[in-house]
Amino acid sequence: MNRNKLIAYTLLASMAAICLTGCSKEPEASETMLSESVPTAVTETTESSVETTPLVTYSTAEYEQAGVNELNSVPILMYHRIYGMSNAETEYTGGNVDESGYNRTSEAFEADLRSFYEQGYRMMRLTDFVDGYIDVPFGYSPLILTFDDGIRDVVLEGWNDDGSPIFDPTCAIGILEKIKSEYPDYNVTATFFVNATLFGNGEEDDIRVMQWMVNNGYDIGNHTRDHVKLGDCDAATIEEQIGSVYKMLEEIIPGQYVNIVALPFGSPETMGADHPEYEKIFTGTYDGFAYTTKATLLCAWTRSYSPFVRDYDYTAIRRIRAYDNNGTDWDIEDNFNQLNNGKRYISDGNPDTIVFPAEENSSGDWLKNTYGHQVVTY
Ligand SMILES: [Zn+2]
Repeated sequence: MNRNKLIAYTLLASMAAICLTGCSKEPEASETMLSESVPTAVTETTESSVETTPLVTYSTAEYEQAGVNELNSVPILMYHRIYGMSNAETEYTGGNVDESGYNRTSEAFEADLRSFYEQGYRMMRLTDFVDGYIDVPFGYSPLILTFDDGIRDVVLEGWNDDGSPIFDPTCAIGILEKIKSEYPDYNVTATFFVNATLFGNGEEDDIRVMQWMVNNGYDIGNHTRDHVKLGDCDAATIEEQIGSVYKMLEEIIPGQYVNIVALPFGSPETMGADHPEYEKIFTGTYDGFAYTTKATLLCAWTRSYSPFVRDYDYTAIRRIRAYDNNGTDWDIEDNFNQLNNGKRYISDGNPDTIVFPAEENSSGDWLKNTYGHQVVTY
């Protein structure tokens, strides 16, 4: 089979092409990128094509033009508190609220989101990433948002008559909802990692708002009960810290939370072989409730490896600290400059295939995990 030729064309692809070319809300830069990259595909129809998962590929020229590379890196942003302030109201650089830049102004956060969109990034769920399922349109790049600690992320002002929450428009989810309404093709989503204190709106309201969140495109993950350094804990304490949060989430949003832990302080950085009790982060039992964890996140400094490559480690997924340091020291600008300069995952539009230039895997062992997907090189 000549892999440079088009293999099949699907309903999905034609729908995507129509949707993309017909979208009037695209900014000019994205419109240009899309109109250049919309494929001229041929159809190969078979009797079984309706029942089996169809495969979509493009010509080498189309892949090259779009820069498709699904072995490249993915930005997973780590935010904490979003404060209802303008950048001028802080004494720190570019919308940082504290000296280390863990917390951000609402003005800066909103500007971040608009900037990522204009650079051709589209959001996806962290849990899908961990499952090796990356579903963003052809020529675009995945973007994943995470929030730790719950504080100032979901600030509730009340409830509408229809049962929907009224958010403080300057908190994280207030801004996300605004961006969602402005950019329907951004696929706005985020994962919020909570401690026992949840979002601080009071237990009754927090339970209700979390139920709304998981039904409206957001995910909730585990950040330990008391925000402890797991590297300092014995096995029983780890089970208590991890298991009690899963048990609580199972009661509030049964089956609708994600089995992912954002490691407080990034500790331990790796599940070291000399600390076998760390296995309790991944499987354990608390108060009769058995749990499993499918991935853990660091407080790291940079982009994540693609889940398909050798150096990707689901026990130590890297995140970008969302702060401003004038384009240096792994701040947002520094990271995105590197991504946009040849390091960025660019999608072929099909979550069931892994597409990349053949030379990317010239070592023969860089592609490691295919998650059952078909591999296409060009
Ligand atoms: Zn934290």
